[in-house]
Amino acid sequence: MKILVINCGSSSLKYQLFSMANEQVLAKGLVERIGLKGSVLTHQRGAEKYIIEDEIPDHEKAIALVIKAITDPNHGVLKSTDEIAAVGHRVVHGGEDFSGSVLITDEVKESLIRNIELAPLHNPPNIMGIEACQKIMPSLPQVGVFDTAFHQSMPAYAYVYGIPYDYYKKYKIRKYGFHGTSHKYVAERAAVMLKRPLNDLKIITCHLGNGASITAVKNGVSVDTSMGFTPLEGVMMGTRSGDLDPAIVFYLMEKEKWDFQQTNSFLNKQCGVLGLSGVSSDFRDIENAAIEDKNDRAQLALDRFAYAVKKYIGSYAAVLNGADAIVFTAGLGENSSSMRMKICSGLDFMGVKIDPDKNFTRGVEADVSTIDAKTKVFVIPTNEELMIARDTYDICK
Ligand code: ADP
Repeated sequence: MKILVINCGSSSLKYQLFSMANEQVLAKGLVERIGLKGSVLTHQRGAEKYIIEDEIPDHEKAIALVIKAITDPNHGVLKSTDEIAAVGHRVVHGGEDFSGSVLITDEVKESLIRNIELAPLHNPPNIMGIEACQKIMPSLPQVGVFDTAFHQSMPAYAYVYGIPYDYYKKYKIRKYGFHGTSHKYVAERAAVMLKRPLNDLKIITCHLGNGASITAVKNGVSVDTSMGFTPLEGVMMGTRSGDLDPAIVFYLMEKEKWDFQQTNSFLNKQCGVLGLSGVSSDFRDIENAAIEDKNDRAQLALDRFAYAVKKYIGSYAAVLNGADAIVFTAGLGENSSSMRMKICSGLDFMGVKIDPDKNFTRGVEADVSTIDAKTKVFVIPTNEELMIARDTYDICK
């Protein structure tokens, strides 16, 4: 059975084609600059790259080119789309409607459209991707896999905010959490690495990329997570502020005479380690600036970031009453041994002990803690596409 996984952004589209018998990636690629000048598709089959430069005005044309690439006689891997059994789509926001992946029906689509309010930037391109696939491959089942679904298991006392309950009822203002597919994947892998059943474990998963979130996973389900109503809450990120005293927002709006749009863009795009360091939103640049240029603000941004993650780990250790493992994943979590070390230093109270030699690992699954560590520290590369393929397979097999 072959499954096509699609992740649609507003001007980009990523895809991977899986053969589910051995969960192998047959081909993958990226369409960039949809609706803009210079749009291009880069298709990869193994180490070989095939590039199609064409006008790509919309997602429908993008999907048509993806199909062209994967069925290309020279660079493709399929004779026709008849070989594809189903398409799995990443969908950012399922609101309170979905606690798992679902087959896309008209009713599900209506619900996705209703949830645009909660994710105005993300859900519309996700829906465009689904509609384009339905148009081009009408006989194929389409499955939606939600970033929010894994966190729907949070108890009410974890997801409500300290605002009048009426506003939760009226506007659905509550914590939703994101990166759910990634947190679920690495928690499952951690159980395999611990050689224990997931439903008997307490795991703190740290997805540290450009966006960052921490999740407390108890017996295989999310019981709390650091991102909230939107991805702005939680630890400071590449360009997002993370947790703030909300009064700062009004204060800045008044002082800088910002309107709603300017303020929203400021909090999402100009804050985080970019704003604090003044160097970059990319942790590699900041680490270089701190070490090579002895840049104090770069160092401050790294210290503040590590401190924020450490505080969430500590609070989730309290939520879970201890932890069997802490997992690091995504760009920074998988690659930066110095950041992992910094975050985990001073967590001896909960039996965390990193082995500096093992910690030099990069981009592969590894236990980087000492043999006697009570709480294990794992590096686990995330694989959201594989999770989407698995869910799609399970629903359609
Ligand atoms: P996203 O998918 O949210 O855009 P990624 O998971 O790709 O993000 O992570 C991107 C982040 O990971 C960037 O800030 C980048 O600096 C950081 N990163 C990637 N590799 C390294 C590395 N070797 N050392 C430090 N940071 C890294």
